[in-house]
Amino acid sequence: MHVGQLSLNQATMATTPTEQVLALCEETGVTQVSLWRDQYVLGDVTRTARLVRAHGLTVSSLCRGGFFTGTRSPDEAEEDNRRAIDEAAALEAPVVVLVCGPVLRDGLAAAEKGIVDGIVKLAPYAQQAAVSLAIEPFHPMLAAQRSAVVTLDQACDLVDRIAHPSVGIALDTYHVWWDPNLPQALQRALPAISTVHIADWLVPTTDLLSGRGLPGEGIADLTGILSAVDRHGYHGPLEVEVLNPTVWARPADQLLADIQRRMLTLLTALPSGPVEVGLS
Ligand code: ZN
Repeated sequence: MHVGQLSLNQATMATTPTEQVLALCEETGVTQVSLWRDQYVLGDVTRTARLVRAHGLTVSSLCRGGFFTGTRSPDEAEEDNRRAIDEAAALEAPVVVLVCGPVLRDGLAAAEKGIVDGIVKLAPYAQQAAVSLAIEPFHPMLAAQRSAVVTLDQACDLVDRIAHPSVGIALDTYHVWWDPNLPQALQRALPAISTVHIADWLVPTTDLLSGRGLPGEGIADLTGILSAVDRHGYHGPLEVEVLNPTVWARPADQLLADIQRRMLTLLTALPSGPVEVGLS
């Protein structure tokens, strides 16, 4: 595992203009970004893709697709998710991260069915575009608001049920760190993991969605999780994704330097240690 795997997920700089985020990444030697669909430069994905290339960056993933339950009809979800796949292709992003949608009154099984049906319809389209769809298991506290998929094992079950080569998993340390079954689940999930999101668990956590910590600020065993991921041969992006208004309020250049330091510390603690590439 090496620092060149570091990707800045744009949600960590949610209030910084995308132009500035991209320029900062180039200046500091961060070579990958994960972009959010609501943050395109002037709302235009083509213009954004051009700027990404001009800065010599690659897009590790696009956030977010999904929302198969709860907020819109299956047809609306399909149409919007096809657009997300098109946008990922335009950005040359290999992955669209899926926030699958919440559990509703009719229960978990019904929500899972809606999610599976939605992904099954999209998978061939994603495959044609050379884009993977990554199911992101969320922390269970968000089951009623964001995602009915709340453990890594459950995400693995859905991937097995769908059984399509273009459907995988986005692993987010903030969402999975608490799981007593995580070591076994990681072993099972590893072949399907398309991207890894990194955020820490603050004590106390005062906001379910936007109370996340920078790596090393909280109590999640990030070293243990990344060691397992590393051991199983994952070489993909390590996206630092920290939703937190306190983080957003920091000067973006200082924040990015802090993230690089924190990631270097984290990777240094891995048994294999970091290989220093990608940082100037
Ligand atoms: Zn995430």
